Amino acid sequence: MNTAEIIQLENTLGAHNYKPLDVVLCKGAGVWVWDVEGKKYLDCLSAYSAVNQGHCHPKILAALIEQAQKLTLTSRAFRNDQLGLLYKELCELTNSHKMLPMNSGAEAVESAIKTVRKWGYEVKGVPEGQAEVIVCSENFHGRTLSIVSFSTDPKSRTGFGPFTPGFKVVPFGDSKALEEAITPNTVAFMVEPIQGEAGVIIPPAGYLKKARELCTQHNIILILDEIQTGLGRTGKLLAEEHEGIEADLTLVGKALSGGFYPVSAVLSNTEVMGVLQPGEHGSTFGGNPLGCAVARAAIKVLVEENMVENSAKMGAYFLGKLQKLNNPLIKEVRGRGLMIAVELSPEAGGARQYCYKLKDSGLLCKETHDHIIRIAPPLIITKDEVDWAAEKIAAVFAG
Ligand SMILES: *Cc1c(COP(=O)(O)O)cnc(C)c1O
Repeated sequence: MNTAEIIQLENTLGAHNYKPLDVVLCKGAGVWVWDVEGKKYLDCLSAYSAVNQGHCHPKILAALIEQAQKLTLTSRAFRNDQLGLLYKELCELTNSHKMLPMNSGAEAVESAIKTVRKWGYEVKGVPEGQAEVIVCSENFHGRTLSIVSFSTDPKSRTGFGPFTPGFKVVPFGDSKALEEAITPNTVAFMVEPIQGEAGVIIPPAGYLKKARELCTQHNIILILDEIQTGLGRTGKLLAEEHEGIEADLTLVGKALSGGFYPVSAVLSNTEVMGVLQPGEHGSTFGGNPLGCAVARAAIKVLVEENMVENSAKMGAYFLGKLQKLNNPLIKEVRGRGLMIAVELSPEAGGARQYCYKLKDSGLLCKETHDHIIRIAPPLIITKDEVDWAAEKIAAVFAG
């Protein structure tokens, strides 16, 4: 079937909860993807950073096939060898004491919220039903009902109430507002180190450090949602390293499986995860041997093939090139590692038309909000590929 036929099927039969670019992909390898007509594109979204290791990484693929032939699901009623090994390898890599395996990113977020609420009642001594979690404006933590309850994006919330109580929203990047929002019932502060969906918004230097200090001072759990920023995207394994801090709970997902399979985890640095007792939380697929084998391979290649270092190096190089574009249509180019945003000026008339122009010249990018184009290729991108991409981007904006 060709592009038009598949789009027709999707428009007729699919729920319209996405507005994808009109390109139908059927193959991927490394930084490249192909559409059903055989046209090749450089992927500058990496499935929202789930494909940091590149499409169909051969070693992750081999792990998937091998494990799929042995054992795929036991449920947590029994133990499986792959989960034990993932505990060891992921905790060692991220310097964590404990981990809770889940599937999607949103499930990791929900799991963290449940954990800190319970910790608040049992350890901190917050009166039953009073626990508060502070979050930031313009946050993106997923799509479940409790998570959209504290979204500030009208599109994410409108029409989905009644909402889950117990959340307080403060402006992102404002540590004074955070401090003022803290009460004796505050159990956690949850934040993205860099806001991805909001448009790669980097907080002022020192913000996370100050947040860490405030949390320690007031006995509050610091939850960093690194589902998008983690696993090399910003040029460090975890974005918290840019400010030399450690979260109490760290959420990872997306690239934890290199894009093969939904695998997420809550990583814990403190005893907070100890409050969860048998029967209080779980997931049929969470920690399944197939997902764990995939995740083990995904973090192994990330380290072995120096993808984090390459992200730092190629990210700085790419950012430098884009910042030199000096085009009146471009308001600002910002980023860290290979998490880059090109923010267009209002006169440009919206980012989406440029995403189509970029697509025609062989680059797949997706707008976030109306005026921002995110540039986030797989972390294995080479210098020649960055040169090629930067040239195409320059040509599109030069008209
Ligand atoms: C993608 C994302 C999530 C949600 O992950 P899903 O797997 O889509 O549920 C949560 N937080 C951040 C920062 C994300 O980028």
